[in-house]
Amino acid sequence: MWVGMVCAVTLPPGSSLTGVGKRVDTVRGTDREARTAVEETAPQVRVGALALELTRYCNQKCDYCYNEFRDAPAATPRGEDRWPARVKRLLSAFDIGHVTLTGGEPMAYRGVFDLLGMLRASGVPTQLISNGGLFDDALAARLATFSPRSIQVTLNADTPQLHDELVGGAGHFERTLRGIAALRRHAVTVVGCMVVNRKNAHRTAEVLARFRELGVQQVALSRFSPAGYSTRHAAKLLPGREHLLACFEAALPFAKGGMRLQCTMPVPPCAVEVERYAPIRFGGCAIGTSAQEFAVGPDGRMRNCTLHGHVISQAGDVADPAVDLHALVRSNDVTGYRRKIPPFCRGCLYEDSCAGGCGAAASWVHSGAHGEHPDPFVGQYVDEGFARALARVRSDPPAASRRRRLDVIL
Ligand code: SF4
Ligand code: SF4
Repeated sequence: MWVGMVCAVTLPPGSSLTGVGKRVDTVRGTDREARTAVEETAPQVRVGALALELTRYCNQKCDYCYNEFRDAPAATPRGEDRWPARVKRLLSAFDIGHVTLTGGEPMAYRGVFDLLGMLRASGVPTQLISNGGLFDDALAARLATFSPRSIQVTLNADTPQLHDELVGGAGHFERTLRGIAALRRHAVTVVGCMVVNRKNAHRTAEVLARFRELGVQQVALSRFSPAGYSTRHAAKLLPGREHLLACFEAALPFAKGGMRLQCTMPVPPCAVEVERYAPIRFGGCAIGTSAQEFAVGPDGRMRNCTLHGHVISQAGDVADPAVDLHALVRSNDVTGYRRKIPPFCRGCLYEDSCAGGCGAAASWVHSGAHGEHPDPFVGQYVDEGFARALARVRSDPPAASRRRRLDVIL
């Protein structure tokens, strides 16, 4: 699964978690029933967005997948499905701006329409992130009845060869195109996504033209950011400045022609003067702001975003009444996140808004705590050890593909 919607497109300057400071009744003791009862009557806390990773399973195995569990995509566990209880509790505790259903492949989760029904009944807007490959007319028609705000589908190239190479197998290109066409036939709003990396940046114009032919008018240009499974592919995929410039130059005429383009992963302004590419929209890391999209994994545990591996406060399943949901979004893991600025970034003009770029990618690549290293996109130019490691892996790609983490070779 890939991002596109995880980072804020526009970061409100100086914004903070709206509502987190709102008074919430303190719950003492460990009695689970009492806590649930109090939460149901306590004022809801505003949360901008939640991404629910409904299943570990995916019909693709993309090199750029940020799922930590991509190597072990266990089938849906037998027995109780905890998602309805999780969603019920989340809806009770939070006033949610929108929910993103993702995975794995969310359409492979058997209860997806039940959850869509719960969310619709609560008036919470929904969107999905899917590879599109499972959609036929019947599935698209059923999804349309739930009026999701949009479904984001990724197309990485205009040819089957390159797209299929990036997503892990033959046939996915055609299946994705068929899925997009089915969704469009049933008037579901499709948001395109292209994961921009070293291999495909030069095909940006062709990919956008293909989206336009398919009737897709909004596309996320999500530059590759290594995390989870894809960390091992960092050397192969991490774009350089020249790749992003080529992508944005090619995309600019589409944006000026009316296509809505947004770069959904932060592009640190010390590396690229993003103002040159208006009206393409650029954002920053949303953690600790009102636009933050918290992630809840297949294990039910909450993280700061879908790329981050760290579980907030090391808490358990959000369905568990012992887990204080309000405390999670007010914890120091969230509110203190932006204060941890990598040493390289201290004193930078953009320190507050950029905060070092994608901290999740930095943590994954260096196996370090958040705040120790800048975004690997910047790091490849300012960290000699990291640059040498990338060069070493690029000179020996077969050996690199067997490695699980880039840190193994640092
Ligand atoms: S905060 Fe760091 S990554 Fe962001 S623009 Fe400044 S130096 Fe670059
Ligand atoms: S850590 Fe990275 S993926 Fe997560 S919200 Fe920030 S920029 Fe986006």
